[in-house]
Amino acid sequence: MTEQRTPLDAEIRARIARAGPIPIAEFMALCLYDPQHGYYNQRVPFGAAGDFITAPEISQMFGEMIGLWTAQVWRSMGRPAPVALIEFGPGRGTMMRDALRAARAAPEFRRAVRVHLIETSSKLQSQQRRTLSGVDDVALHWHASIDEVPARPCIIVANEFFDALPVRQAERRPTGWHERMVAVDASGALTLTVAHEPLTDLGWKLPAAVAHARIGELFEWRPCKLTIEIARRAAAGGAALIIDYGHLKSATGDTLQAVRSHRYANPLTLPGLTDLTAHVDFEALSKAAEAAGARVHGPVEQGTWLKRLGIETRAAMLEANAPESKRADIAAALLRLTGTGPDQMGSLFKAIAFSAPAIAHLPGFTP
Ligand code: SAH
Repeated sequence: MTEQRTPLDAEIRARIARAGPIPIAEFMALCLYDPQHGYYNQRVPFGAAGDFITAPEISQMFGEMIGLWTAQVWRSMGRPAPVALIEFGPGRGTMMRDALRAARAAPEFRRAVRVHLIETSSKLQSQQRRTLSGVDDVALHWHASIDEVPARPCIIVANEFFDALPVRQAERRPTGWHERMVAVDASGALTLTVAHEPLTDLGWKLPAAVAHARIGELFEWRPCKLTIEIARRAAAGGAALIIDYGHLKSATGDTLQAVRSHRYANPLTLPGLTDLTAHVDFEALSKAAEAAGARVHGPVEQGTWLKRLGIETRAAMLEANAPESKRADIAAALLRLTGTGPDQMGSLFKAIAFSAPAIAHLPGFTP
């Protein structure tokens, strides 16, 4: 059997040969972000022809609900002008396009908005510029990092962004927690292993539910620096909305997932051509945001959140105006976004928000 190899595969092997096994997080960062061969610079992965489909690509209704949410939040903030509307990982730019269109219903808000898109992939930045080319009355800025965005009142949104950030994994052994690494085995293939020495700084950081893990169990976590930065900006006078799939409570388990052409794949094969993600730990997000001084809202299930924002009314309106042949598509999209079945996003995905402590309620988070 001839194994397919990618340019990144060769580079990763060379690195391991030089300096030894690399942590999963480093492997994931190379696979996703390598400027030449990384996944997000290789392809535009979303949509029916890509590897997976995200909520804004399923229906315009998703971005529209985000647009209504941001306009309402702006009113709760006391209508600051200007206000930065910051999106992390905008993908094709579809959600922002639909949100800005929906915000036409709130002209004063739309006039106050300065859009800042945080995107590391130059390929996706170009795609976003194309998608947003029709927006000529709102200032649009692109950045590779939030550090480039001036501190001012802001509303931050991120859909399916955190799941794409590299995770670290460690395995409980009698000697402590050992970081999971990618190595090369005797046959020359990439393989998973654990570091020889235990991590010295993990024990005291573990959530209670994980502290007593059994031997062989895995724990995953992401560095909380970015969550803290987002929460700090929200706490200083604004709000942040994060929607993603994941678990409500910190727990043990391996959720690293590889997807290629809408199918699950081995995370170690075809690096750079395979999407790698892992579940988001909403308890960890919540704790980091509280530590940064923000008020935390939710998490609530995506289906519940969208319904509270009025997605069913919006779907009915679209259906009433659509030709007969399109009505079933609208109903199907609504079900996909809000349904609670295994192939639907309504309960797999959750929404959480952070805000300035003075903002007691945010749309969608209370009945
Ligand atoms: N929000 C979009 C795309 C999700 S995919 C949607 O819902 O369709 C993840 C996106 O985050 C991609 O645009 C990817 O290039 C971007 N991204 C991943 N890691 C990033 C990082 N560290 N900083 C900025 N953007 C990042």
